[in-house]
Amino acid sequence: MYDRRVDLRSDTVTKPTPEMRRAMYEAEVGDDVYREDPTVNRLEEVGAARLGKEAGLFVTSGTQGNLIAILTHTQPGQEVILEQESHIYYYEVAGSALIGGVQLRPLQGKDGALDPAEVEASIRPDNIHYPDTGLIVLENTHNRAGGTIIPGENIEAIARIAARHNLPLHLDGARIFNAAIALGKPVVELARPFTSVMFCLSKGLGAPVGSLLVGPRDWIEKARKWRKRLGGGMRQAGILAAAGLVALEKMVDRLAEDHENARRLAEGLGNLPGLSVVPPQTNMVLVDVSATGFSAPTFVARLAQYGVLAVDMSPSKVRFVTHKDVDREDIEYALRAVEKLIKGD
Ligand SMILES: *Cc1c(COP(=O)(O)O)cnc(C)c1O
Repeated sequence: MYDRRVDLRSDTVTKPTPEMRRAMYEAEVGDDVYREDPTVNRLEEVGAARLGKEAGLFVTSGTQGNLIAILTHTQPGQEVILEQESHIYYYEVAGSALIGGVQLRPLQGKDGALDPAEVEASIRPDNIHYPDTGLIVLENTHNRAGGTIIPGENIEAIARIAARHNLPLHLDGARIFNAAIALGKPVVELARPFTSVMFCLSKGLGAPVGSLLVGPRDWIEKARKWRKRLGGGMRQAGILAAAGLVALEKMVDRLAEDHENARRLAEGLGNLPGLSVVPPQTNMVLVDVSATGFSAPTFVARLAQYGVLAVDMSPSKVRFVTHKDVDREDIEYALRAVEKLIKGD
């Protein structure tokens, strides 16, 4: 048996810190549907200001935040342009089609980034046969591409296209703080080109629950009504928001450690035979394991026998995600486990 459990499946597995638990215990609360929860109100204000937007909305999850954003930006029958490996297209259970009645128009990206010319060519001209384009969505960092950072010039180019066509631009910024820390840039700068941004408190930032949707004040008021309609009007949610405030105030700068651990993991894996590793930009390491003779699912299952957990992203690719609940020793342990697995002992 193994002597450690190193969970590198996702940064969603992070547990709240003692400081978060204390803040939750002590949180001042009220009925947030009446807008009377001071802690939720503060989180929404602080979160919006942090991203440089007018207003914020505390939502139950990133998936709910993205769905509310699409519902608020579009009308049924419209089309939404996004990347074909994006979280919204890949992992959000077709919610926007089912509930929003929109059609998703996936475009192939490169390392998660869309080609601006292709985005522009995909905006529907006026024609009786066509749906109207209602929204463009980008994802930064890009999850399935391996936590990649979308280049600023690429975002600016797409934002200019959106503006020219009078289209809103939404950012699935679940891990926008990872991008900001990796670039050494204020998150405001990364959020500026977007009409609205969703980001997660519950991933690398370590809060137990919740995401924030931020954008223009009148737009957020419409989003608030969609949240209620979807059953996301929570009552004494300050208990959760309190942890979110600690996440925003205390947990952002330390993401650099996760990036450092990802680099160390990638370097160690790259030295092992049969593994082809993409150098990580943030906290994710994608590894092609096909030359080891194992399929990705088998690799993941065998590795779990050593107590090291990862996920298979395709038949040949395995993903490792670093986060606050794995330290350098855990990374070294994971590397020894992978080495044993490959060498067959
Ligand atoms: C995790 C994630 C989401 C969804 O967040 P949940 O809180 O898990 O619903 C959305 N977009 C991206 C890019 C993500 O990685």
